[in-house]
Amino acid sequence: MATTEIQIIQNVEALNQTIWQIQQKQASIGFVPTMGALHEGHLSLVRASRQQCDVTIVSIFVNPTQFAPNEDLDQYPRPIENDLQLLQKEGVDWVFMPEPSEVYPQGCSTSVNPPAVAQRLEGESRPTHFAGVATVVLKLLNMTQCDVAFFGQKDYQQALVIQHMVRDLNLATKIEVCPIVRDHDGLALSSRNVFLTADERASALCLFRTLNETAAMIAEGETDGRVIMAHMTQSLIEGGVTETDYAVIADARTLELLEDVRRPAVLLVAAKVGDTRLIDNCVIT
Ligand code: AMP
Repeated sequence: MATTEIQIIQNVEALNQTIWQIQQKQASIGFVPTMGALHEGHLSLVRASRQQCDVTIVSIFVNPTQFAPNEDLDQYPRPIENDLQLLQKEGVDWVFMPEPSEVYPQGCSTSVNPPAVAQRLEGESRPTHFAGVATVVLKLLNMTQCDVAFFGQKDYQQALVIQHMVRDLNLATKIEVCPIVRDHDGLALSSRNVFLTADERASALCLFRTLNETAAMIAEGETDGRVIMAHMTQSLIEGGVTETDYAVIADARTLELLEDVRRPAVLLVAAKVGDTRLIDNCVIT
């Protein structure tokens, strides 16, 4: 339990001052970017940061530029009081909670052209998404001057996009990717799970089941990518998803789809259950 009050910062100027003070003490800065509606998945990143770094900054910012006009920006859950309580309990030092106009002031027109790995999968389903993600993450890394930034494997492709951006643009920040945190029955924790009805939540379990069954199939010797992907798609349909965006086996580093399984590979699924779009993945080593 933290003893000091969590400090809330809402503008970039105040953040700059805080960062300057931290740097005077030569303390290392860990940073956890989030969109809020925090759960144990987010908190696992906070704990990793608290373990590795002297000071931890969490951002809560529902980034408008990564949502397409037809997506759920307005409906995105924002239980801010609860989020702050959770972060206080974890002993987080600072929360950065800017308004969109603070991150994108009038006249701001520069953006990141995301790396090639952004074009597949999520990039096909959500063509403008990763440009928004890469731009806001680059801005936040610059604003926080963090030594280490923590991301979840839950958003597998996002973590790759960030890693490639950091490499390609010679950023000094170290990127840590932490394991997926799941509910007791295997459902990957997500801020969007609150949208699921009880029946939909039961159907949503088929994402995890599909990944597990497919990993077992591969462990038993299946190497044909087309057979594997057909199985994944069929398993999701039988599990009751409304619509599948993708259900694939891909090279774990490039996300190139695999006709013959070679390792490391990753199984990735994105599907709608009711109106809620869910993603999950499993690395095959
Ligand atoms: P979000 O608030 O959805 O933008 O997520 C913020 C960070 O938390 C991202 O790096 C996500 O990958 C990570 N995250 C979200 N859900 C989980 C989870 N179930 N396990 C681990 N990390 C997660």
